[in-house]
Amino acid sequence: MTVLERAGALREVGAGLQISPNAVRVIEALGLWPHFEAISVPSQRVELRDSAGRSVAVLDLARHRPQDRFRLVHRARLVALLEAAAREAGARIELGHEVQDLPDLPLLIGADGVKSRLRPVLNGTEPPFFTGQTAWRALIPAEPDAAPAVQVFMGPGRHLVSYPLGQGQRNIVAVVERPDWHEEGWSIPGDPAELRATFARFGGPVPGWLEQVGEVGIWGLHRHPVAAHWQDGKHALIGDAAHPTLPFMAQGAVMAIEDAWVLAACLDAAPDQDTALARFQSLRQPRCQRIVEAANANARNYHLRGPTRAVAHAGLRAVSRLAPTRLIERFAWLYDHDPTTL
Ligand SMILES: Cc1cc2nc3c(=O)[nH]c(=O)nc-3n(C[C@H](O)[C@H](O)[C@H](O)COP(=O)(O)OP(=O)(O)OC[C@H]3O[C@@H](n4cnc5c(N)ncnc54)[C@H](O)[C@@H]3O)c2cc1C
Repeated sequence: MTVLERAGALREVGAGLQISPNAVRVIEALGLWPHFEAISVPSQRVELRDSAGRSVAVLDLARHRPQDRFRLVHRARLVALLEAAAREAGARIELGHEVQDLPDLPLLIGADGVKSRLRPVLNGTEPPFFTGQTAWRALIPAEPDAAPAVQVFMGPGRHLVSYPLGQGQRNIVAVVERPDWHEEGWSIPGDPAELRATFARFGGPVPGWLEQVGEVGIWGLHRHPVAAHWQDGKHALIGDAAHPTLPFMAQGAVMAIEDAWVLAACLDAAPDQDTALARFQSLRQPRCQRIVEAANANARNYHLRGPTRAVAHAGLRAVSRLAPTRLIERFAWLYDHDPTTL
């Protein structure tokens, strides 16, 4: 197998990733769990807070899903792990190789992200659309006693997510609705002062964290609908090339990992490539569609305004207190999935 990657080095500016148990099962099946465990830290709970920092709900993963491995990792460390494993398995990785015209090969897999070159070949030209949301991403030093938790602070039209990444780092993702994004690039250097001003009304630990932000990138979040055609017998799409998503379920990279395993398993099992690729799409498309829709719903729920927000937060507080497992079990379909058992 040959991987053609346009970047000159497999470095990543994107900072942190939450990796949920459905993808950890793939990492384990690849024999990489001990390495992955060493480069990531556990996520023991998800804390939903309002913009003042008051608790709205807690998803106590360690208590209610002790069998599951929710992990937090720096993206560069995960990419380096996968790169080393791919090379060891015999893959040739050609860095600095931008695909312009699609090569004629027996099988070409487009894992080339939201601006995929292969996607339009299978689906016609449809430029990605701006979702009306932008995200700042930054790393700051983690407190020595940082809680192993993902904290989500929800304000009107904006929210901020933060978690420790291990190796003394804390990840910050700050999302705000901004209908007027006109930048050409996907990620450009951001202004820490603008980030602080946008979240100036947030309380709890947020002001202290934002004070420490030196460098920050800003992303205009773009998307396509989930592709109608993922394959044609000779070509296949995986990851963001097939189903770019808002990051509000933390499942974009996770889905790409699931896709990769399922595609390989289909190719191993089927008598011919046509059958394998058709099975791949039929297994993956409904699941990815459901995940993308769940992320869209979170965009609405996190950013509620006015009385709707007060009512929704009161409801969440009550459920979290009276039936704490219900909030987690709503997503059992997502996290219980094992892509390695088809
Ligand atoms: C703010 C934010 C937070 C996120 N948090 C999470 C999270 O916590 N958990 C999670 O699972 N996901 C998260 N995601 C989503 C995740 O980043 C993406 O879904 C994931 O990176 C998609 O992986 P991919 O390999 O499909 O595409 P990409 O990561 O975009 O990789 C595509 C690769 O293809 C290369 N390429 C593109 N075109 C060419 C070409 N013509 N020739 C050669 N190479 C090419 C690119 O250089 C790149 O290396 C987040 C996203 C954002 C924006």
